[in-house]
Amino acid sequence: MISPHTIQNILETARIEDVVGDFVNLKKRGANYIGLCPFHDEKTPSFNVNPVRGIFKCFGCGKGGDAITFLREHESYSYVEALQWLAQKYNIEIEETKTSNEEIVAKQIKEGLYIVNNFAQQYYTDNLLHSDEGKSIGLTYFKERGFREVQIKKFQLGYALKKEDAFSTTATIKGYQLEMLVQAGLTKQYESGNTRDFIHGRVIFPIQNLSGKIVGFAGRVLKKEEKTSKYINSPETEIYHKSKILYGIFQAKSAIRQFDECYLVEGYTDVISMHQAGIENVVASSGTSLTPDQIKLIKRFTPNVTILYDGDPAGIKAALRGLEMVLEEDMNVRIVLLPDGEDPDSFVQKNGTTPFREYVKANATNVVAFKANQLLAEAGNDPIRNATAIREIVGTLAKVPDTIKRQLLTRECSRILKVDERILITEINKIKRGQFSKESKQELAAVTKNELRQLQEIHDTQKRLADGKDEPQERDLVRILLEFGQKQFSEETTVAQYILKEVGEHQFYHPLLQKIKSLFQAELQKGNIPDHSFFMQQEDESLRDIVLTLLTSPYQLSENWEKRYEIYVTDKTVNYKKDVESSLHRFKIKLLDRMIRENAQEIKTAEQDKNEEALRQHLQVKKQLNDLKGQLAKVIGTVVLK
Ligand code: ZN
Repeated sequence: MISPHTIQNILETARIEDVVGDFVNLKKRGANYIGLCPFHDEKTPSFNVNPVRGIFKCFGCGKGGDAITFLREHESYSYVEALQWLAQKYNIEIEETKTSNEEIVAKQIKEGLYIVNNFAQQYYTDNLLHSDEGKSIGLTYFKERGFREVQIKKFQLGYALKKEDAFSTTATIKGYQLEMLVQAGLTKQYESGNTRDFIHGRVIFPIQNLSGKIVGFAGRVLKKEEKTSKYINSPETEIYHKSKILYGIFQAKSAIRQFDECYLVEGYTDVISMHQAGIENVVASSGTSLTPDQIKLIKRFTPNVTILYDGDPAGIKAALRGLEMVLEEDMNVRIVLLPDGEDPDSFVQKNGTTPFREYVKANATNVVAFKANQLLAEAGNDPIRNATAIREIVGTLAKVPDTIKRQLLTRECSRILKVDERILITEINKIKRGQFSKESKQELAAVTKNELRQLQEIHDTQKRLADGKDEPQERDLVRILLEFGQKQFSEETTVAQYILKEVGEHQFYHPLLQKIKSLFQAELQKGNIPDHSFFMQQEDESLRDIVLTLLTSPYQLSENWEKRYEIYVTDKTVNYKKDVESSLHRFKIKLLDRMIRENAQEIKTAEQDKNEEALRQHLQVKKQLNDLKGQLAKVIGTVVLK
């Protein structure tokens, strides 16, 4: 674990405009920076960076957060990876807190595996480029495939010598422990104690994880007549989980985001050839059929997947295998079958980049329609097989979560299958009803009464927010707390102390704002005044989001923003004391309104009950409430409308 002291040091040193500036072209506008949002496609900038608060916010897609959030979203880093990235950027030494022995051992093993893998990669690459055998066999093979040196280096390709213990011997001489080599799957150890390299006499494709670290290797045979499998992969290890890795994702991730599309191919060489042709948004699910973890990995960057496979029956089968899983993830999947006898590698090399892109564009078929066509062709004129095909398509359609998408697909399939759309819809609904009642029964069993009430509250809140019937006074007070809470209101009170004293125990109507208020109160009692970074560290995402929205409301931004939102800006920094007072007044008036409404209800009840004593009391309260409201209204010079 990174020590809290280091984390604080990193967070204090990191400058948001610096960090974001590494990825986004930012322009200064007043105190802020603006740029084109890297999270959604736009032509006019709505992406805003606020250096004073250390936060960013996009008014187009709503994404926002601090430097850590940015790195997590943009680079798909974990929290710790983001901290490490920042530490490296700012030359901050990372101190670790004490962790349990088990954790230390597990971490050391992982680090050890990365280190030996790294050595192995350098060793294999060195063989390829500098040894006689590597040059004459491995490099010649890659050159024959048409790979240029740039790609060979980019993908860190290598060569494993034919000698069966060449690697293990070199590695042990260099001081790498045999045990580690075995654990990394690089060396095989037999019961007799003899050792042998896991891969030998093959060209090497190192396999990298999302952050570019080498987790394993694939070796390809060079002679077709050899009776071994074409590829062998290192075994699964602590750091290599085949079902979670996509080959090329490290090199492809920014292009996938940029083009908002990911090409999925079968093999390592397809990925490399496409890079060479300038098409970089491409990954391969090599060795396995597509898994849910791999789909989720793609989904972090784009919902659009185009599968590029050979036109042969095995290729088609492979392409369709992961289909329903992908559909369930609500991804948009299209498929392109390449002309007979071609794979992406050969096709792009033969035809060039532009014809390749054009071909893909012209031939991309929605994968459900593709499957319908495929099944229909297989069924031929056999009526029973036809019925089975329809049933299968209905099952696939039912997996599509989005209603509109499902409707469109159903229409298309009805045309392909020559079946009345209504029949398909009826069948899909049957399946969906089955799914629904199963799910809802399970859900109901799991949800207690209390949780139902909470759900209801969340629902009400969302509805209120959607209706715009939120309590603006509460928002305003919380905004002032966040913005000026630490400033002095008078000689002995801070703004935060003053506001919370004035608001007292009154509950905020909005649950999230109430939560912020309670957090403020709790921290004040400990002698702290929390600022926005305190809230940025809270786990509750909706809480962080509301804080961000409050702090980056458009009226604090540049001139353009003022025009766009037609908001007149007063100098809030100078006027914050006035701001505090008038916000409190408005809040109190609103509070009085609520009390007056409640009082009116009590008067009504007392009248119905003919309870004269209660009626007298409530009427007295009514007068007091109205007097108070009148005074307050006079102070802020507003006519308060009921
Ligand atoms: Zn955006």
